[in-house]
Amino acid sequence: MEATASSFIEIRGARTHNLKNIDLDIPRGKLTVLTGVSGSGKSSLAFDTLFAEGQRQYLQSLSSYTRQFVDQMERPNVDSIRGLQPSLCIDQHQGVSSPRSTVGTVTEVYDYLRLLMARVAMPACHACGAPIDRQPPSAIVAAVRQLPEGTRLTVLAPMVIGRKGGHADVFERIVKAGLIRAWVDDEIIELESPPVLSPRREHSISAVVDRLVVRVDNAERIEQAVMSALQLSDGLVSTHTAPAGNAGGEPLLQRLYSTRFACAACGTSLPEIEPRTFSFNSAYGACQTCEGFGSVGEEQKALCPACHGRRLRPESLAIRLHGYSIADIVQLPLNDCQRWLQGLAFDADTLPVAEPILKEILPRLQYLADVGLSYLTLDRSADSLSGGELQRVRLATSVGTGLIGVCYVLDEPSIGLHPRDTQRLIDILRSLQRKGNTVVVVEHDETMMRAADLLVDIGPGAGKQGGEIIASGPPKKVQKVAESLTGRYLLGRLGIANAASRTIESEGPALEVIGITKNNLVDVSVRLPLGRLVGITGVSGSGKSTLVHDTLVLAVEAHFSGRKIAKHWKRVTGLEHIDRLVEIDQSPIGRSPRSVPATYCGLWDDVRKIFAATRDAKQRGFKPARFSFNAGAGRCEGCAGQGRQKLEMSFLEDVDVPCPDCGGKRFNRATLSVHFKGKNIAQVLDLTIDEAAEFFENFDSLRRTLKSLQDVGLGYLSLGQRATTLSGGEAQRLKLAAELAKPATGRTLVVLDEPTTGLHVSDVVRLVDVLQGLVDRGNTVLVIEHHMELIRCCDWVIDMGPEGGMGGGRVLAVGPPTMIAKTDFPTGIALRNGLAP
Ligand code: ADP
Ligand code: ADP
Ligand code: ZN
Repeated sequence: MEATASSFIEIRGARTHNLKNIDLDIPRGKLTVLTGVSGSGKSSLAFDTLFAEGQRQYLQSLSSYTRQFVDQMERPNVDSIRGLQPSLCIDQHQGVSSPRSTVGTVTEVYDYLRLLMARVAMPACHACGAPIDRQPPSAIVAAVRQLPEGTRLTVLAPMVIGRKGGHADVFERIVKAGLIRAWVDDEIIELESPPVLSPRREHSISAVVDRLVVRVDNAERIEQAVMSALQLSDGLVSTHTAPAGNAGGEPLLQRLYSTRFACAACGTSLPEIEPRTFSFNSAYGACQTCEGFGSVGEEQKALCPACHGRRLRPESLAIRLHGYSIADIVQLPLNDCQRWLQGLAFDADTLPVAEPILKEILPRLQYLADVGLSYLTLDRSADSLSGGELQRVRLATSVGTGLIGVCYVLDEPSIGLHPRDTQRLIDILRSLQRKGNTVVVVEHDETMMRAADLLVDIGPGAGKQGGEIIASGPPKKVQKVAESLTGRYLLGRLGIANAASRTIESEGPALEVIGITKNNLVDVSVRLPLGRLVGITGVSGSGKSTLVHDTLVLAVEAHFSGRKIAKHWKRVTGLEHIDRLVEIDQSPIGRSPRSVPATYCGLWDDVRKIFAATRDAKQRGFKPARFSFNAGAGRCEGCAGQGRQKLEMSFLEDVDVPCPDCGGKRFNRATLSVHFKGKNIAQVLDLTIDEAAEFFENFDSLRRTLKSLQDVGLGYLSLGQRATTLSGGEAQRLKLAAELAKPATGRTLVVLDEPTTGLHVSDVVRLVDVLQGLVDRGNTVLVIEHHMELIRCCDWVIDMGPEGGMGGGRVLAVGPPTMIAKTDFPTGIALRNGLAP
């Protein structure tokens, strides 16, 4: 990185995508929020310019090996960035690297727990359950010396524990060691004539090292006896003691000590205990049946019959810390886990070992609680988390790792978070910043914008109409900029007019699910009024997704497909009022760059026909198939029509570069020689949706779809933008547009998950119009949302809570938003606090 005295990251002449040659100084070590309407260029500035250049400069500085790739990487289109720091990006795109990842492994808490278990947990024999007292020799000596005066003591060296054989060699060794007695199968034997044992029976043999009466003056003799026993038995001692005066009687007390991991009770030997004993990613720790996955089976996953989902070997699970195995600990919700660890009492020996490890674990758990995730468990598989949850897990992890001098770039960390918890999220970002990092956040949340040191409003519009800095300064200053939509919003001059709720009759058509029991929902029933705009609210983890995705959607889907499913509810009524289900989530529309808005919405087939009908094409004999970049003779062979090629770098992530053959155009020269209205096929693919709407205005077939894309606020996207570069919110709105373009049945149930993701309040206004339009045509729209402006526009709200996890899972209140606003649950409070327009 460039060394600089300036306390700013100075961006000069940024022209990435739609950015209009902008300059911006981002204060180092401060919190900066970038905002603006969807498509205005926030991501282009934050991720494709700032972060990309930070990463490039870092690779440049790393080694000559990485440097050779840097030359081939795209340089962000920017004149210069001075004062850049190493950059880290925390967004919702990043998937989970391994299907075995859990909240514990992603946050590194599990690594510290493994260490804690290896150092201070009490091992126990997995075969017989006996605890194993593993101590250094000095501790064993000290323990034996503690015996009361007059105790009659026998020190034994266990040599054979429950093993078949004649064991003549063992007796020979005992005699050689100068001893004359052995304890053989509960009997003391004189070894002048060694006994003949049945080789087919199991025997236990201990050498009798010394028999004495404990007195103050024979401490040295005790030490000698214990040390000889340890040597003879390779780390085991057992003592038989009888109280003073019990003349000739049987020993009353037997104790076993060990310096190694073998069960002195049944002889099972245990592996040395190390952190990897508790790793389900290592052969040392992983359950052998499920290889550490916790489940078996490809399609239909079933709980592993050997470890019951605990992922570890029985040897590892037998090791306990104050009665809990590591699997028990990671099953606790994070807040309980934190409390349990805090409550552990350690003795003087283990405290110095445990304390520094707990100092790593406890703050990390606190950070996870701070980002509103205390309902999660450490064993929760990372791939079952929502994008927003995973992003916040990563954020909490970053705070825990304690890096300094880093520039963190985040994409809408408030996604999935109830307004109640926004302040804590800001506190976390602040602690990251106070440690000496620069934090740059792309956000639309009002509280977050007000909290920024520097607020930057990008706009004024989307795509070509955007890309400029409209206002930049402390929020109070931005508020005074009349041209800034954000400023007007912060002043309370821009909001959504309260739509009058439609009436809901108690006996009107409704979808009703009775007796739902899943995750944190226990025997919950809900009634969803049909033909209405219905919002589902509640804090993160309260059970919204469980209710909507895992239950309502599943029930309707099963009804249409006739598929047999395991039901976790008792009864459903009202299915006859619905004839189609459209579930629109934030999952990517395609994982390959082959998928683009034009192909996804079915526009491209029509465009290809238009091109095939031109004179140019007819002369050359080109059919519609020629204009496909996915197959056929028209595409560039160098990149198979993808426009990009991957550079593989060992040890580092692959880098994507434009195809050197076609320069990213996806088509070969012959295909590009065909023109329609002066543009070739690659130039048409480059048009934004707004431009395409004008370009193809005379084509009815295209107009309807392009119009729906504009309606959901995606007019700024280009027809050919690779699906892999779309945000979750954009992908969701693209799916919504594709649905809107289809003829509506009037009885469709449309389900959306946080459709306001990525939207500025002025975009939310348009989204509400689209959703209202769907409801006006008789359909039912169900949205999971945290955006109170949208919730205010719903006809009906189902509020879940009150907390996440086991503290939630209940339906708190149902009714029109005006009624919910009168409750004292988190949503009611947020509705009241919101700036009424
Ligand atoms: P925001 O983050 O404000 O929603 P973006 O920075 O994503 O906006 O987009 C700004 C403009 O740049 C839009 O017109 C968008 O279509 C375009 N754009 C974004 N990513 C790419 C890309 N990878 N290739 C080409 N154009 C892009
Ligand atoms: P919300 O959508 O309101 O954030 P969820 O329905 O996702 O809430 O979660 C409700 C509860 O169920 C939480 O305690 C969550 O941890 C748990 N849960 C959700 N999905 C899973 C899953 N796949 N495995 C285990 N627990 C889950
Ligand atoms: Zn190519």
